[in-house]
Amino acid sequence: MLACLDLEGVLLPEIWIAFAEKTGIEELRLTTRDIPDYDELMVGRLKILKENNLKLIDIENVIKTLIPLEGAKNFLDWLKSEFQVIILSDTFYQFAKPLMGSLDYPTLFCHELIIDNKGEIKGYHLRQSDGKTKAVSALKGLNFQVIAAGDSYNDIGMLKVADAGILFCPPEKVIEEFPQFPVSRDYTEFKEIFLKTRESILL
Ligand SMILES: [Mg+2]
Repeated sequence: MLACLDLEGVLLPEIWIAFAEKTGIEELRLTTRDIPDYDELMVGRLKILKENNLKLIDIENVIKTLIPLEGAKNFLDWLKSEFQVIILSDTFYQFAKPLMGSLDYPTLFCHELIIDNKGEIKGYHLRQSDGKTKAVSALKGLNFQVIAAGDSYNDIGMLKVADAGILFCPPEKVIEEFPQFPVSRDYTEFKEIFLKTRESILL
């Protein structure tokens, strides 16, 4: 049985929001909750980076000062002792990579920024649209059972297609809209729900 886990909001802080705080660029705080169209959001973010002359190296330097959420590393170590774990994220390798060491380099499937030879960010490449849902479907196609867990709207697809889904510290709106998923509000609860969920799948 596999555990497929979201990254931001579950193990790491929201990278764009943390980056906005570190750089003081307020407009970078916007997320898919403010601008639902992902392309529009990303085009806006890249424009802001360009206007502020931020290259990949500047972003890496800010991002590597971020740390995982408190207790995240212990939780992930525990999860890896109970399940094979794959992190499914809508972030970019260039953003997540400086932080993966602090989580002991878990397997990560995410997207990629397009960088030119001067280190400028020219665009982004999504591995595929709705990649989390498709990854879980594909893993099920390999006859794995999957428990998927995440915190927000972009996780709901994979939570639905998995054998079971769990929410971790989601916004109230998500809880109201998707009452079928159990909600954990800290890592202790998260562990308990993972174990109970596995039991109910194996019954
Ligand atoms: Mg998230």
